[in-house]
Amino acid sequence: MDISRNKFDSPGENQKIPIYLTRKQVRHLRLRITDSGEFHLSIPWRAPLRLAEGFIEEQRDWITAQQDRYRFRASDKPRYETGDVIPWWGANLRLEVQEKPGRAKSEVLGEVVRLTVPPGSDLEKRQRTLDKLRKNSLETRLAALLPKWAAAFEVEPGPVRIRRMKSRWGSCNPRTRALTFNLELTTRDPKYLEYVIAHELTHYFFPNHGPEFHALLASKLPAERSLRRELNGRGANSAG
Ligand SMILES: [Zn+2]
Repeated sequence: MDISRNKFDSPGENQKIPIYLTRKQVRHLRLRITDSGEFHLSIPWRAPLRLAEGFIEEQRDWITAQQDRYRFRASDKPRYETGDVIPWWGANLRLEVQEKPGRAKSEVLGEVVRLTVPPGSDLEKRQRTLDKLRKNSLETRLAALLPKWAAAFEVEPGPVRIRRMKSRWGSCNPRTRALTFNLELTTRDPKYLEYVIAHELTHYFFPNHGPEFHALLASKLPAERSLRRELNGRGANSAG
């Protein structure tokens, strides 16, 4: 049971990192970082506070390293709060969240993504609202780019679907001619969307990625190899 929860400032050089202190039935001081990135220090009931201060000072390098690791991890998982960075077609936009009764909506205004949600909306609601913005934007770009590439390949594209995919940027079903595009393409430069479109249309001719596949794709998009490497280099996704 906690009898006190004090907040300490760790002796960082440029910034203070708060450390939550809890007195507990423990033999030794124990410092840990929580899932939400907070530092918690447990100290024995009767230990003097300067023991905690000395301990924190000794752990300074560990604290800094954990904080960097946490920041890195946290940057992968957006919280959808004002100030978050929203990757948008290769640019980094700033998220502005407004809580207002009524329908949730989101829009891009210059360098800002404005998300308006009813008060108390959770992470999922925020994500769904932003996904709608991404989907609309991807649809708009596809409506402009797909006919251009279909003409280049002299094909008639089949039905188009957009969804979030874990391991692929796009896919093509040569039998039904259906094309699927990953919603995450909206985070990357539009040139990669063009690459994925051209890649998937090439599957209308060759279902696999053999030499003929690459020869045809490169004849329409000479930079295909470097685009593929760049697109796949930063994540596990492949063009499919
Ligand atoms: Zn493929």
